[in-house]
Amino acid sequence: MKFSLYLGKYSGIKVFIHWTFSLLILWIIIANTRSGTPILDTGWTILFVILIFLCVILHEFGHALTAQKYGIQTRDIILLPIGGLARLEKLPEDPKEELKVALAGPLVNLVLFLLLSVILFFTGFDFNLLEAPKLNGSSIWLFLASANFFLAVFNLLPAFPMDGGRVLRALLSFKMPRVKATEIAGGTGQIMAILFVFFGLFNNPLLVLIGIFIFLGAQAEVNQTKQHSFLEGFIVGDALMSKFPVLAYNSPLQKAVDKLLDGQATHFVVVKEDSPVGILSREGIVQGLQDQSAQISIEKVTDINPLKLEITLPLEEALKKMAAENKKVALVYEAQHFIGILDQENISEFIMVKNAITR
Ligand SMILES: [Zn+2]
Repeated sequence: MKFSLYLGKYSGIKVFIHWTFSLLILWIIIANTRSGTPILDTGWTILFVILIFLCVILHEFGHALTAQKYGIQTRDIILLPIGGLARLEKLPEDPKEELKVALAGPLVNLVLFLLLSVILFFTGFDFNLLEAPKLNGSSIWLFLASANFFLAVFNLLPAFPMDGGRVLRALLSFKMPRVKATEIAGGTGQIMAILFVFFGLFNNPLLVLIGIFIFLGAQAEVNQTKQHSFLEGFIVGDALMSKFPVLAYNSPLQKAVDKLLDGQATHFVVVKEDSPVGILSREGIVQGLQDQSAQISIEKVTDINPLKLEITLPLEEALKKMAAENKKVALVYEAQHFIGILDQENISEFIMVKNAITR
């Protein structure tokens, strides 16, 4: 994780804290100094924030360890000023599992709330402190108990992709297809997000950030779920392009320029004695013209490490690989024989067509 400080790991899950977290602490210090708050009180506030974030880590472990029970690993847990994020390798698709994984986080906060309440009760806490609540050594545990209660409730709001939104999606998924459930939960989440932003503008800037985060997150996840459902059951062969423009490796770059201007193609398969040796992209052609000349051989600007895919590979896996390696086009093979190419744009068309048919 870039720009993050590694804190440690448990059960194979690493915990990081994002650098922007230091801005939060800095903001507390500046705000308190400007309002003339004594240093000791600022110290208590910072300690309180750190304790809350420890509770947030425990909350995220609630999700991560429950997911682990269903065989889903967590890449890492990252702490941001607006909260924690357990980055699961994938999301549970079974609504029952999703429900449990989503509830596990807020449940941790609820347990912490009860635990702290019981401790406060039996250690003879002076409840008169509640009349004029002020954060200090004797009240900090009471504040922490309340914060955990608040965290549980806040996270359970149906603001997809927050926990409550996931609970809503899971519950809806028992009754309808997952895509439909995601669309409804996503829409609800975006309405909640707008309310957060609106409310936050007048009360709390952090809430504005959270609102924006939720709004974009909901959109991204609805799209992702849709794409996933469209691609499910399809393999590379289904979106294969068997017609594609070809260039000989030893032709001059001018030849590629002519072909580029002559048609719609943006990627060319470069061949040597009838077998493909690489992919030449529009960017590669332009780069070659800029750096050298139209007379150099095509081979010099060709990507000679193209992504190679088996025809039977699930289409979704293929898209992930292409995204991970930042390739727009891949060569497709069937039992070692080159049979065509897979083009990201073509996959988008494929999804659009499938979408039109199902509607
Ligand atoms: Zn959570």
